[in-house]
Amino acid sequence: MSEEVQERCRRDFAFKVTSLCLDFFDRSLPGKGKPVKGREWTVFSAFIREDSESYKLEVVAAGTGTKSLGITELDTEGGLVHDSHAEVVARRALIRHLISEINNDSDVFETVPTSSGLRRLISERFKFHLFTTHPPCGEASEVATSASVSSDVGEEPANKRPRLSEGPQRSPALAPDGVKIYVPPEKIVSGGSFPLRLKPGKGDPTRSLSCSDKILKWRHLGLQGSLLASLLTSEIRLSSVTICGLQTSPKLLYNTLNKTAFQCPDVDVLVSDNRDFTFAKKADRRPSPLSISYSRLSALHQTDVSLEGRKQGCIKKHLGTRKAMVKVCRKLMAREFVDLTKRMSVPEQVSSALANNEGIRYKDLKSLSPWYNEGKMKFCKSLNWPRRDPETYDNFILEEINK
Ligand SMILES: [Zn+2]
Repeated sequence: MSEEVQERCRRDFAFKVTSLCLDFFDRSLPGKGKPVKGREWTVFSAFIREDSESYKLEVVAAGTGTKSLGITELDTEGGLVHDSHAEVVARRALIRHLISEINNDSDVFETVPTSSGLRRLISERFKFHLFTTHPPCGEASEVATSASVSSDVGEEPANKRPRLSEGPQRSPALAPDGVKIYVPPEKIVSGGSFPLRLKPGKGDPTRSLSCSDKILKWRHLGLQGSLLASLLTSEIRLSSVTICGLQTSPKLLYNTLNKTAFQCPDVDVLVSDNRDFTFAKKADRRPSPLSISYSRLSALHQTDVSLEGRKQGCIKKHLGTRKAMVKVCRKLMAREFVDLTKRMSVPEQVSSALANNEGIRYKDLKSLSPWYNEGKMKFCKSLNWPRRDPETYDNFILEEINK
């Protein structure tokens, strides 16, 4: 295939993904949680599953949102969603979709006998793509800004940002192809192989890393997360990222999202300008405080709306209880994972850890996949990735969910 034809195919694919996702937002997502028309903006992200046999593309998970909790609002019981940026919410919703697919023995997974028991492998037939209506916050957003095509998400004055670490770069940084990008030092939190950035956001300073950095992590470690990794033989790859509303070459964004901590496949980066998102950021609009999550769970289409990491509209007496939790919080997702393991044959390591789930702690569930943890250690070490303290934030007991 000539380069020109290849380029046309990629452009067609980006247009198709954009139309599919924006139609999905307009027609399939319920109105609850969407921004107020003409007055509010948000970011919308979706995961698309591609079946390479039927060429079918389907939205299987989605999220909206631009907010993250500040340091003083973080939750040690797993009931709040700390990071409600659209890409992150969509990824959490995707994990719920994947749990449901394993539970329903869908064609997406193949069962593989291993020395430690049955594990799953994503079928080569299926690929997963990410769509988003704004360049991911952090470096991709800065790169897009430097190319004069867009503005950063939720940018705010430098004195509002936390000064966790000033990092090594105080002067303009260089994009991989040599373009100068000004990186405010307050955003840099790590001095590994390359700088990492905190999320932009108003109010209480956040500790969440930017979506550009999180995508980098998904590229290296897979989309499935640590819990699901214990049931799989290997990671679930992200194949491409399509960003809509950009009239530029995706090369700069490609270089940004394909930086490497260690050898791992590249993710394709596509841009599209065939459709506009109704709730895109504009100067006269304020960010919507709400976040929607959507997961396709077999025939069920499940949505949840959150505000400040908890269910929208929950009353004060429900704070800290299940009634205040949205389905994509760590506690409920971990519970779904544990329930799944009870209904299927799982590797010995997982079944023995869960044999008595009275008092099982979230941090213990996160350590059940040797290949994932090995990769994560290597990744975190090479990038000096700031990790939250598991003894503080991952030490909650899952049985408490039923109270
Ligand atoms: Zn973001």
